[in-house]
Amino acid sequence: MNYKVLYRKYRPSTFKDVVGQDRTIELLKDSVINDKISHAYIFTGPRGTGKTSTAKIFAKTINCLNSKDGEPCNECENCKNFQQSSDIYEIDAASNNGVDQVREIIDNIKLTPASSKYKVYIIDEVHMLSDSAFNALLLTLEEPPSHVVFILATTDIEEVPITVLSRCQRLDFQKISNKAIVENMKMIAEKEKIDIDTLALEEIADFADGGMRDALSILDQLSKNNVKITQEIVLESLGLISNKEITNVIEAIDNNDVDKVLEFIKFAQTHSTDFKTLCKKLIRAIEKKAIGVKLGTAQTNLDYTKLKNLALEISSLIYKCNVNIDPYVNLELVMLDYIDKFTKNISREIKKGEEKELWEINTQTSEPKEEDVKITKKQIKDNEQLVSDIEIKKDFPSNSSELCSIRVNNCFVNANKNFLTEAKDMWVKFINLNKMKKERALLMDTNIVLASDSILVIQTDIKETAEEINDNIIAIEDALNTYINKKYKLTAVCKEQWNNYMQEYKEKLAKNIKYEMIDEPKVNDSKKIVEDIFLNSKIEVK
Ligand SMILES: [Zn+2]
Repeated sequence: MNYKVLYRKYRPSTFKDVVGQDRTIELLKDSVINDKISHAYIFTGPRGTGKTSTAKIFAKTINCLNSKDGEPCNECENCKNFQQSSDIYEIDAASNNGVDQVREIIDNIKLTPASSKYKVYIIDEVHMLSDSAFNALLLTLEEPPSHVVFILATTDIEEVPITVLSRCQRLDFQKISNKAIVENMKMIAEKEKIDIDTLALEEIADFADGGMRDALSILDQLSKNNVKITQEIVLESLGLISNKEITNVIEAIDNNDVDKVLEFIKFAQTHSTDFKTLCKKLIRAIEKKAIGVKLGTAQTNLDYTKLKNLALEISSLIYKCNVNIDPYVNLELVMLDYIDKFTKNISREIKKGEEKELWEINTQTSEPKEEDVKITKKQIKDNEQLVSDIEIKKDFPSNSSELCSIRVNNCFVNANKNFLTEAKDMWVKFINLNKMKKERALLMDTNIVLASDSILVIQTDIKETAEEINDNIIAIEDALNTYINKKYKLTAVCKEQWNNYMQEYKEKLAKNIKYEMIDEPKVNDSKKIVEDIFLNSKIEVK
């Protein structure tokens, strides 16, 4: 039997078929229409949101012979042979041979495409690449040939090195809305003659949590029984609780009905209900009620603030549920908290031991919270310390422009390209350090233009920024050197100054004059040094 799973069968083949990513798709279409193709993209977003499908459509479109309005024609030779094209490379970084494949890319990247305009490399789950594979990839991303386009896809952008990110155009894929998922499933169900309720579709969409692939696999599974798919069938097979039950338990809290709340939790527990979906449903029902309170249409004992807090507490349980022994226990306690204990007593008998256990579990989960607060406080303190350090040291090199020209000169003495490549990467990482709040603002638009083994020249567009960096240079050096465990000296120049230095360099090179080391001035000894520099530079120029 030639059975194709729904997700593959209904994989979009044009941009207009991609569901729920309108902004990203517009950007890609515009770049095709205006012929502004970047050499590297990174697609990031939750699983099943269309990253790989979009990457393929994009690869097809930029090689299409008659693309119209940024869409592939799906009829030309290139479009038709797209699946078999030898110019499209798909690499799954999650598989073991990621490194080998990246090596292979590097080996044949210079060869021009066989039959298309671009060679496209799609690397799925790129965050899974090993360090050595990333390093190999980085070299290629640095200066890719004009016929090469990289599309990296990841569900975990935090794990992708900043050095790679900084060379890619980033596009974010969003969770797909329930409405869009339902509509797409409805369309597919009609085509496949699958009999399914709208309520059932909504339950599936809810469970899929923004991922089309998950939604379609569930639809796929349920359709195999060849019976009408109802809400009950979906709830049962996915381990979900109906919206009616959800509404009932919120009512129970409102009516101080402890028994019903306990019953609800027990039911959810014994039916291995999906905890996250349950919480999301509860939050949505509470939200509805809270809005009702604001509009004056809901009759309730719980005021708006209580409802809001209940929703917030439940939502924090979602994040904790993976580390909890039994998340339902916490949910139960949170719910009971909102029951007014003065009007009704807890009717369930809780054995002493059991009670203790509950609270222990509860305190256990609240611990990381305290820890978080401590860390934040510590970070704030560190930052304050850094800031005050900077202020104390601010006036140190009063002769910063003289010091700057000495350092640039000394850097030229043994600068080379390898030092520069290494320094550039390290600099990007350094700037993005969390701790570097104040410096980060100052260093935001800077880059390294010259590097030796001991000196780095920082360039920025604006003269005032360069001066401010030089005024703070000691604090920045300290922070950098602590971070990389080296002893670099730094200096900053603005674009105009840098052009002058480059001009000087070229002239020297033409006249075969070598740079020679100049001693740096001692602190607060500026006047004398200025003369020295002039003396030296006069000698140099000759
Ligand atoms: Zn075409």
